[in-house]
This record gives sequence, structure tokens and C-alpha cells, in this order.
Amino acid sequence: MAQDEGPSARLREVIAQTCALVAPRLCPCGEEGTWLCRHCAMLLDAAPRRVESSCDALQMLTAARVRQEDHGGPTLPAGVDHAPLLPVLALGEYAGNLQHLVLAWKNGGMLHLGSRIAPALVPAVTQLAAAADVVAPALVPVPSRRSARLRRGEDHTAELVRAIAATGAGRALLLDARPTTAQDGQGARQRRHRLIRLHGRRSRTAGRRAEPVIIVDDVVTTGSTLRGMHDALTEAGMVVLGAVVVAAARLPPPGTALGTGV
Ligand SMILES: [Zn+2]
Repeated sequence: MAQDEGPSARLREVIAQTCALVAPRLCPCGEEGTWLCRHCAMLLDAAPRRVESSCDALQMLTAARVRQEDHGGPTLPAGVDHAPLLPVLALGEYAGNLQHLVLAWKNGGMLHLGSRIAPALVPAVTQLAAAADVVAPALVPVPSRRSARLRRGEDHTAELVRAIAATGAGRALLLDARPTTAQDGQGARQRRHRLIRLHGRRSRTAGRRAEPVIIVDDVVTTGSTLRGMHDALTEAGMVVLGAVVVAAARLPPPGTALGTGV
């Protein structure tokens, strides 16, 4: 409500000033006097980039799919078609100040950064949804390991999804998704990616409706978690439009052909 904006903004400022007496405002990059400096805010304002071609685990998935699809059609050597099965959009490289920002948010107790990161991911969500002609897709966070959740006291990717959903760009779909233990994945294929199992009625309902979903995570490295999540969601019947992450461990070189456009 508009009438609340003034007082609540003043209250926030009073709280911020009070906190500043105990712990001075500090941007994750080290700049004092601000929670997020102009330079770091610009990193979040970056246009989303396609990064899946730099994720090894996602390339494996593409190659395996190509071989399966060739049955009955013209035989093409596996691996020739690099069209991405799973588009992944990131704001930048997981390095320097963007890395400091993500770490401060994830592990450093600077949870307020989530409220700046969430709107920064909205353009990526909108881009993936628009490419599939979907309005307000379901947003699914990758599951945090239980140990990480206990250490942090909260599930930061679930919080991020709630904050993105609050902008109206999508709908939070918080599923009971559990990474399986190491003993569950003894085969070579399982070892290459994390196996994730979905439980509960919510995922069965979403699967029955063939719900279009976007996976949300903080950082993509090899893409093994995204792949595990993609497989679990697809198996349940949902349609994965892509994934949105804050940062990627590696960015594709400039000018890389990215296959189907999103
Ligand atoms: Zn900064």
C-alpha cells in the first residue's frame, strides 16, 4: 500500500542505521557504507547470457538424446548436433565481485542480497517463458543438501524462487526434491550427474498437468545438478523450459554458436 511506503521505508532506514552501529554497511566487494555498491549492482543488471555450452554435464545429455532420436531416421554421428536440450541463462561469470556477492548471500549471512538478486533474474525467467509462449511459468528451486540447509538455517534457493515469484514473473513451485545418497548411484551414468528424486503430491499434480517449469539455482558449474533436476522433472511429466542461475563457473567464448535461440 502506498501509504505504508513512507513509514516502512523510514523504518527500514532506522533499522539499517541501527545495524550499521553494530556492523558497518559493507558491500560484498569490500566497499564500505553501502550494502551493495554501484559497481556490484551493475553486475546484477547485466543482460542474461546463455551458458549451457560451457556445462559438461549438459553436453552429455544432448549427445545421448541425439543418438536416441536417430532411430529410424538418417544416421548422424553422435555429438554432431550441439543444439542445447536445456537452455541455461546466467548473469555473469562466477568470479571476482559476482562470486563475492553470491558467497555473501549464500554463506555469509547477507540474506538481504536475495531481494536484489531476485529482480535481477526476472529478465532471464521472462526470456525463457516467452520463447515457449508461457506466461508465469512454475519456478522450481534446486534442492539444497540437508547439511547445507541446517548450516545456513534456511533454504536460499527456495527463498530466491519465492522472491522472483513475488515480482509476478512466475509461480513458486516448491517440490519435495531430494538428492539421493551416493549408494543410490553406482552406475557410470549416475555418477556423472546427481540423481534427484521427487516425492509428494505436489510433483505428481504438476506432472499430470505437464506444468511448464524453469529451474532456479545460484551457480552452475558442470551442470550436473541441473541435469539431475531436469531428468527428475521430465520423468514426472513436467516440461522444463530451461534454467536460470546467478552465475556460471565458465562462460562460453564470445561469438560461440548457441544452437536454437531463446
Ligand atoms: Zn560492491
